[in-house]
Amino acid sequence: MDIRPFIRDVPDFPKAGITFKDITPLLADHLAMDYTVNTMAHAANNLGITKVVGIESRGFLFAPAIAARLHCGFVPVRKPGKLPWKCKRREYALEYGTDAIEIHEDAIKSDDVVLIVDDVLATGGTMAAAISLIEEFGPTIAAASFVINLTFLGGTEKMSCPVHSVLDY
Ligand code: AMP
Repeated sequence: MDIRPFIRDVPDFPKAGITFKDITPLLADHLAMDYTVNTMAHAANNLGITKVVGIESRGFLFAPAIAARLHCGFVPVRKPGKLPWKCKRREYALEYGTDAIEIHEDAIKSDDVVLIVDDVLATGGTMAAAISLIEEFGPTIAAASFVINLTFLGGTEKMSCPVHSVLDY
């Protein structure tokens, strides 16, 4: 199945010069969603995944469904101040300023095999920070999985683990 027709290009959103990949048409189509989640789960099927980590917020739309198909748990990585328990935090550089992500300090064990999920790989800053945060727990990071890889932005080169994607631009 080709999911490209379910991705809407929105020019100059959220600011001038950015072409935003809007996944809401994909979310609205159950066959396209089923294909997408199955493809992401299938790519990780033989990796022995024990935890699927999703990145706030659009990673949450795919990661729990992938985790259910892989018969393992889901772990959220969130923006600061959202998670209720004790957290580990990683700050990372944006074009202007910094941002941060957090994860519960008991969310991952050193014997876990982790798949990290987000909707879009752009510059890779967010996923690189998530990988570095998760590495602190000492697990195996099997792969970073995306619905869309904007390959022309070079994010793949920043990943210290294999990269999976359903659709490349
Ligand atoms: P980055 O850290 O640059 O790889 O950006 C990744 C995050 O920003 C992902 O969580 C995406 O949801 C979002 N993002 C970045 N660029 C785009 C884009 N062109 N279209 C849709 N989402 C994007």
